[in-house]
Amino acid sequence: MAILIDGKDVAAKVRAELREEVETMAKERKKRPALAVILVGEDPASQIYVRNKQRACEDVGILSEIYTLGENVSQESLEYIINSLAERRDIDGILLQMPLPKGLDPVKALKCIPPEKDVDAFHPDNVGHIMRGDYRFLPCTPAGVMELLRRYDIDISGKECVVIGRSDIVGKPMAMMLLHSGGTVTICHSKTRNLAEHTRRADILVSAVGKAGFVTADMVKDGAVVIDVGINRNADGKICGDVDFAAVEPKASYITPVPGGVGPMTVAMLMKNTVKAAEISQKTY
Ligand code: NAP
Repeated sequence: MAILIDGKDVAAKVRAELREEVETMAKERKKRPALAVILVGEDPASQIYVRNKQRACEDVGILSEIYTLGENVSQESLEYIINSLAERRDIDGILLQMPLPKGLDPVKALKCIPPEKDVDAFHPDNVGHIMRGDYRFLPCTPAGVMELLRRYDIDISGKECVVIGRSDIVGKPMAMMLLHSGGTVTICHSKTRNLAEHTRRADILVSAVGKAGFVTADMVKDGAVVIDVGINRNADGKICGDVDFAAVEPKASYITPVPGGVGPMTVAMLMKNTVKAAEISQKTY
């Protein structure tokens, strides 16, 4: 039977540590970290994510400002708002909730966030740092996976790591971080031939596909560490990951559940990045 990697528990620990840091900062420097979140349109999932981020800020003692814009907002107005937040000294982190409604250019909008306030680490500057391994901010979801591996003492160096998915926000940075930790990394995607031949070699298997039941037991090596990033709904409408948990769990050495695995870590890592952004701004001003 696999050891269950409890993301809820680890996220609570990370948040408790951050709360202490934030309180020290508030006492010693009379300043709390502040995060501005911009939500464009009325996507229900995005609304939930933004609410969760706001609650996490309250929990950790971070100030948050939420800007809700209509889905017909122009690119120019969106960029104006980001630029105004970029200039404000009291705002440490800026997050533009993705996806943006059709007609808006996310790449152009994200470039308006100064790299030192880019708590999602999507700015090309920060992406470059991730490539080189001299990180300022790490993208929250893969950073959350790395934190889970670290806290469960799972060594990456020399291990076969297989990442399924090559998105800019999960798959690619995940692969880079595993690589920087000494893993031998394979990235699989929809064009990969004989996917199971790759995944069966994995000591550490990360799935970031977005399809319920995608990773089946025959795709997993005995004793593998299985990290499920996927968030999907099964036929009963319940939240589930990419991994067929019931079938894979007996083969794995460690496994993350969904919900309660990687998900809570993503928000915890956003809080961590916001505290770091506040530290950077203290040094700058
Ligand atoms: P995405 O941009 O849609 O990327 C999905 C990736 O899966 C793509 O690279 C795609 O390949 C690959 N893929 C699709 N079908 C495949 C197949 N049959 N075989 C192999 N690879 C296949 O999604 P994402 O943003 O990375 O997110 C992935 C999942 O993670 C989603 O369920 C999302 O909701 C979840 N997620 C969770 C968190 C969290 O906090 N836990 C955070 C972010 C995302 P191609 O590139 O070739 O199309």
